[in-house]
Amino acid sequence: MTVEIPDPADLTVVDTDVAVVGSGGAGLMCVLHVKDAAPELDVTVVSKGAVGRSGCTRMVQGGYNAVLDPADSVDLHLRDTLEGGKFLNDQELAHTLVTDAPKVIHELETRVGCFFDRGPDGRIHQKAFAGQQFDRTVHRGDLTGIEIMGRLRDQMFRVLPSELEDVRALDLVLDADGELTGLTALDVRTGKALLIRARVVVVATGGSATMYRIAAPAREKTGDGVAMCWRAGLPLRDMEMLQFHPTGLLADQARMTGAVLEEGLRGAGAYLFNAVGERYMARYDAERMERSTRDVVSRAGYTEIMAGRGTSAGGVLIDISHLGKAEVERLFPGMVERTRQIGQDLATGPVEVSPTAHFHMGGVLIDRDCRTELAGLLVAGEDSGGTHGANRLGGNGVAESTVFGARAGDTAVAEVVGRALREPDRAQVAASLARTYAPLSRTSGETPFPLTAELKDAMWLGCGVVRDGAGLRDCLGKIGELTARLEHVAVPGPAQVNYGWQEALDLANQLAVARAVVVSALHREESRGAHYRSDFPEQDDAQWSQYVVLRGNAEVETHQVQHTRLSPEEVS
Ligand SMILES: Cc1cc2nc3c(=O)[nH]c(=O)nc-3n(C[C@H](O)[C@H](O)[C@H](O)COP(=O)(O)OP(=O)(O)OC[C@H]3O[C@@H](n4cnc5c(N)ncnc54)[C@H](O)[C@@H]3O)c2cc1C
Repeated sequence: MTVEIPDPADLTVVDTDVAVVGSGGAGLMCVLHVKDAAPELDVTVVSKGAVGRSGCTRMVQGGYNAVLDPADSVDLHLRDTLEGGKFLNDQELAHTLVTDAPKVIHELETRVGCFFDRGPDGRIHQKAFAGQQFDRTVHRGDLTGIEIMGRLRDQMFRVLPSELEDVRALDLVLDADGELTGLTALDVRTGKALLIRARVVVVATGGSATMYRIAAPAREKTGDGVAMCWRAGLPLRDMEMLQFHPTGLLADQARMTGAVLEEGLRGAGAYLFNAVGERYMARYDAERMERSTRDVVSRAGYTEIMAGRGTSAGGVLIDISHLGKAEVERLFPGMVERTRQIGQDLATGPVEVSPTAHFHMGGVLIDRDCRTELAGLLVAGEDSGGTHGANRLGGNGVAESTVFGARAGDTAVAEVVGRALREPDRAQVAASLARTYAPLSRTSGETPFPLTAELKDAMWLGCGVVRDGAGLRDCLGKIGELTARLEHVAVPGPAQVNYGWQEALDLANQLAVARAVVVSALHREESRGAHYRSDFPEQDDAQWSQYVVLRGNAEVETHQVQHTRLSPEEVS
């Protein structure tokens, strides 16, 4: 059964003041801020997954960094963030993050209704997290994200935005003068396309690190927002900066493979062993051992596995059972539960883990108020680039999504003033529909699933934890080949709930983002933070205090990092 490409004139049109694409921490904080400041505005949430129950904010385990203790300071949090980011950060974004985070934590408690753990003195408990000179990570046990997203979801029943659930954004659409008019979208359940006309669009689809063989993020995050913005001509920065978490679960073909066992485990004294029983961190960081930073521990695990000292499933082992079953169950209930679901048990013995693709520091260029180069288009959360530089600190991710989500909401309220609904350029709508429906309209061709698997393998080996020029070039060639093959993919109808079709659409975006990652990684001929080149193993500040920007058809620019708040010399 083939499905015809719809005519733009036949699309259902949804008109709204503010379209918020994505319903994670950034998306829902944005909605809340718009509706609380301007209840008269019509806000439409477009969400590929369930509203408030999809994305990665709800997966946050460790917690949220915010300066609350008078003995701590935003200057110290900024310094930790810039040192963690290897001074590649946009310092104004990083400064905004650390300045707003305490306000947003109070807002989450007092207005949104979150409960965070408190100490015996009644104050919010803040725990230690790697790379920070002060214990500033706010948490609710090891299920902090569920607490935040559950309460934000409750707030939606109060402010009542229009919700388009299981609807995926496809493309931004401009008018004939190049002004933003809204977006095309696809209702996954019905297979019908929509045209959403909006005065302001906020993109908050949560980036992606899912184009790797082993990956932690929610499956629905396939780089859609970043790819959509790139196709619309917006510049991307720091795309080579992809963070690997050292301890992702290994559960064969199960979805749980890649799910993170959080850093707190290593902080609490867990050991890492290879398959021959060595505590291998002694070879890589004898002083800090398992408490070394994410990039070092990930590289160590990857090197052990590639050197043949991994388990038969291609992993290493993490063991915290020496603390005793009851204590592990008390400290890490969520993680214990997760390991038991796959037939292992963190409380009583070692668990198999591997480095796992975790978080994308790169994304769309924004300013402090989430504005982009395109008037009326705002980007917030993991879809944006610059806040974290070359490496994100644990605890700064959910802070970023809620801080910048809130700011995007405030900016949207200001931005709608004077912006009318506009008529989209019909040719752009037609092109978006043609691209989207092409796989459904073909009668024969391969399915997208093996192509996705090939992309994930190519990225894992060619542009993963350890990279080099030859591997990156091979990987780029493979991405080109897969992009060409995707042009011939066929997904038998019907259009309703068609997983093959959704896979093909996901893959198109993953290929675009993967290309941006590899091109940027090839360009940066040094090692910095999450980007490690075995052919350029040193950090080269003389040459590379620069960030990489991609425009158009992957044209590369480099720009000097502006140390507007703190220079590396001041902390050395
Ligand atoms: C396992 C794990 C643990 C983590 N733990 C921590 C932690 O302890 N502390 C910390 O600070 N950070 C942590 N992070 C990082 C943190 O989760 C992210 O930084 C943050 O949640 C991103 O928020 P977001 O709002 O940008 O995106 P998300 O919360 O991921 O939301 C993305 C939304 O976009 C929607 N979407 C995707 N594509 C489309 C589309 N085409 N159209 C419409 N909607 C779309 C999704 O359905 C979802 O609703 C963790 C990440 C993972 C994966």
